[in-house]
Amino acid sequence: MHFTRLRLLGFKSFVDPTELTIAPGLTGVIGPNGCGKSNLLEALRWVMGETRASVMRGDGMEDVIFAGSGKRPARNHAEVTLTLDNRDRTAPAGFNEADTLEVVRRITRDAGSAYRANGKEARARDVQMLFADASTGAQSPSLVRQGQISELINAKPRARRRVLEEAAGISGLYQRRHEAELKLRATETNLARVGDVLEALE
Ligand code: ATP
Repeated sequence: MHFTRLRLLGFKSFVDPTELTIAPGLTGVIGPNGCGKSNLLEALRWVMGETRASVMRGDGMEDVIFAGSGKRPARNHAEVTLTLDNRDRTAPAGFNEADTLEVVRRITRDAGSAYRANGKEARARDVQMLFADASTGAQSPSLVRQGQISELINAKPRARRRVLEEAAGISGLYQRRHEAELKLRATETNLARVGDVLEALE
């Protein structure tokens, strides 16, 4: 499974529909200052389920929507579409029914984000897990933003470990463990309640 195309509409400076073909071997994007290189990388992180507005260099998630310019009014929504080649059928169950996988995230002012995968509504969590398991998640070290190399060199061991875990494709397991622990705690509470009721009946 690999990325083949990124499409943006109303996302940050990309107010008009813009398409980027991700050909094999693409490792970097170059261009003059302010032309939107970082915005492209952020669009990729965002469509994979990034939830932190600060990573998008904004105060709130709606800051990713085109805010208007001297000549163009602001937009009401932004949309990013990521197309993946799934001919090797490595996408997880639920995303694996076709040779191509298309994931869309759309944000509308005052209405938040919605995801679609191959035309069907998808949950944010499932999209995040899909990419976390594929080691390409929103926090993946394969996407290198400006200043990240020096940050990594100066990082504390704990932060460096997170990078290695993401690279090894095991970061999705932490979320699953956390969810399992919550369920376990809820079950223990229920069991305690059943115990109380039984005691009261005896
Ligand atoms: P540099 O090389 O200087 O880091 P860059 O090519 O990475 O630049 P970006 O940081 O991706 O450029 O793009 C910055 C441009 O995006 C700025 O002109 C900024 O005004 C514009 N921009 C960011 N958010 C929005 C938004 N919500 N609406 C409209 N334009 C935006």
